[in-house]
Amino acid sequence: MAKSRFEYVRDFEIQDVLLPQCYIVVRIDGKKFHEFSKYYQFAKPNDERALKLMNACAKNVVRKYRTDIVLAYGESDEYSFVLRKDTSLFNRRKDKIATLFVSLFTSNYVLLWAKFFPGVELHAKHLPFFDSRCVLYPNLQTVKDYVSWRYVDTHINNLYNTAFWMLIQVCNMTPRESEQKLSGTVSSEKQEILFKECGINYNNEPEMYKKGTLITNKGEMKHIDVIKHLEELFHGN
Ligand code: ATP
Ligand code: ATP
Ligand code: MG
Ligand code: MG
Ligand code: MG
Ligand code: MG
Repeated sequence: MAKSRFEYVRDFEIQDVLLPQCYIVVRIDGKKFHEFSKYYQFAKPNDERALKLMNACAKNVVRKYRTDIVLAYGESDEYSFVLRKDTSLFNRRKDKIATLFVSLFTSNYVLLWAKFFPGVELHAKHLPFFDSRCVLYPNLQTVKDYVSWRYVDTHINNLYNTAFWMLIQVCNMTPRESEQKLSGTVSSEKQEILFKECGINYNNEPEMYKKGTLITNKGEMKHIDVIKHLEELFHGN
């Protein structure tokens, strides 16, 4: 095909190619989901439907790029996809990977919404959308530490959110009182407050809330202590 005289503008496009031999992590995160969850009246601290919807979307992404993915891990409104260090997906073009993952995830979220939120209609002014980034990890240790970081984050956030909301829902505290009560407390103290004030044993909370969700490249979904299983999860990678 003949080239037009305008064709030169293509040279203005730069392609970021991700370094070879590094693990690529794509992390997507819901835009303003604090507001989104309020609008659609998510149960607090954890709406099970919303978490299951996130998991279903992630599972479909994993299914599509199964051979390039080591694992996916998600909590709240975020999901991380860990790609093999030798993947040649989209010739390792950063923009392609970040945008195609997040748009595939988002289209699934909209498509599957009705299945997980039957009777709740998405409103044009409150549509779900997500940001996305690619991060490179240069060796096995750093990528394992990345997954551990998100796992620990799940625990810290969920313990805080559970205590915060139970003080409100069970003990009739105001949000401000609940926040003050928890201010400066360490994990064990939050668990004690939950137990003594609200009669809730944190250990008995659902595994999905406490541990987040892991999806293996075989498509299996698990709620496990990922730090304990890193060795087998990255075996051969
Ligand atoms: P940003 O656009 O900067 O990401 P955000 O409002 O999405 O802002 P996050 O730090 O990503 O902030 O936090 C996501 C918020 O979404 C949580 O704090 C929580 O309020 C809400 N949320 C997400 N998933 C759930 C869920 N399954 N159940 C209840 N609330 C949820
Ligand atoms: P890539 O994933 O590399 O973008 P592609 O198949 O999407 O591959 P494009 O160069 O983006 O390739 O071209 C889009 C193709 O989609 C067109 O060549 C055409 O076949 C089809 N297409 C897009 N929009 C329409 C339309 N409105 N009507 C008919 N065909 C369309
Ligand atoms: Mg964010
Ligand atoms: Mg968010
Ligand atoms: Mg988030
Ligand atoms: Mg195209």
